[in-house]
Amino acid sequence: YSLSRIKEKDGQINAFITVEEEKVMENARRVQQKIERRELTGPLAGVPVAVKDNICTEGLRTTCASRILGNFVPPYSAEAVKRLEEAGAVILGKTNMDEFAMGSTTETSAYGITRNPWNTDHVPGGSSGGSCAAVAAGEAFCALGSDTGGSIRQPSSFCGVTGLKPTYGTVSRYGLIAYGSSLDQIGPVAKDVTDCACILEAVSSYDRKDGTSVKRESYDFTSGLGRDIKGMRIGLPSDYLGEGLDDEVRKAVMDGAEAMRSLGAIVEEFPLGMAEYAIPAYYVIASAEASSNLARFDGVKYGYRTEEYEGLHDMYKKTRSEGFGPEVKRRIMLGSFVLSSGYYDAYYLKALRVKALIMKAFDEAFKKYDIILGPAAPSAAPEIGCSLADPLKMYLGDIYTVSVNLAGLPGISVPGGMNSKGLPIGLQLIGDRFQEEKLLRAAYQLE
Ligand code: GLN
Repeated sequence: YSLSRIKEKDGQINAFITVEEEKVMENARRVQQKIERRELTGPLAGVPVAVKDNICTEGLRTTCASRILGNFVPPYSAEAVKRLEEAGAVILGKTNMDEFAMGSTTETSAYGITRNPWNTDHVPGGSSGGSCAAVAAGEAFCALGSDTGGSIRQPSSFCGVTGLKPTYGTVSRYGLIAYGSSLDQIGPVAKDVTDCACILEAVSSYDRKDGTSVKRESYDFTSGLGRDIKGMRIGLPSDYLGEGLDDEVRKAVMDGAEAMRSLGAIVEEFPLGMAEYAIPAYYVIASAEASSNLARFDGVKYGYRTEEYEGLHDMYKKTRSEGFGPEVKRRIMLGSFVLSSGYYDAYYLKALRVKALIMKAFDEAFKKYDIILGPAAPSAAPEIGCSLADPLKMYLGDIYTVSVNLAGLPGISVPGGMNSKGLPIGLQLIGDRFQEEKLLRAAYQLE
């Protein structure tokens, strides 16, 4: 079903970079036999899943939507992919994204833009735009994305699907091509909360191959679904509802708050604080880590190498000049600058201090509230072509999502209605560290 749907739809949507039909059919047949022999049971047995193209898949090209990895076929699979396959999922293909996950619209991909299935003149969001568009267009039942500063939650909100960014350390980053290592998490994108919870349950694990992996007390994310939210304390940060927020999105958040109140939750506005510092701190930290992580793409070890060069340094220079797109280059330069001696204290160190204060602000909030409710993005999906012209403005669009990564918290975006142009609006729920069960329970009630 998915393959024929991809054939029908993907010419227009371009959610996928790579689909190897024969491989998919072969895997599907193998899984089917196992299901028939009852060797495979469980909710993911036989389910077709799309995987973002920065997550390694053994024998299947993984490009990060970059020219520099255009010919890269990983010799191993990411831990999350391995676990999905063990649960019986069939990997459909690799989804489009912003190059190296840097962007908010899937327009920085070297393999063409992805279009929003609700209105193809609009972007699907980013950077996991391909994963979210694939689910929204019915090409995949669910998908894996990655979220460094909102890349699962924001495109989920633009595409009217559900996407979750887990607590940092919950899903192994082994095999996820690093962008900002201290912020990156793999997470599920699906059409509802239950599906997200099932996928999260399958992919999360303690993994010694990831030095920041955490051994959690519980990996049960599904059994709380459907339980009521009577008495749950919901905080609405007033800093997330002020200037810069589209009126229709504000109304959707308020309607969501009212719905939770009518289900017995206690909802109130409160000042979270630090919101205006989140964007600068995030872009300094993420770019700093990116500049270091992307140093490995030098034309020697893997991926693209320039054709003509004179000596090693010329080879590095030409390979990287030709291999990386403009947004990636901008981040590498910004990151190298904030880490350079003389500027390190003024920018990088200061950003780390801001990060600590943001964490503290959330810690204080979670003393009073179980869940924080707010928008996922300031507006619905913008039109194609209007974001890249002004990168600073695009960065500001991440205002409601980046703090969650800086603080290592879990966050989920659920559909919260449509705007007057017929584009989806997403609501974001944020939980305290390791409180996915509660977060999913609350999100389930909002569906
Ligand atoms: N838009 C943000 C950025 O460009 C977030 C991206 C992400 O989460 N990968 O960095």
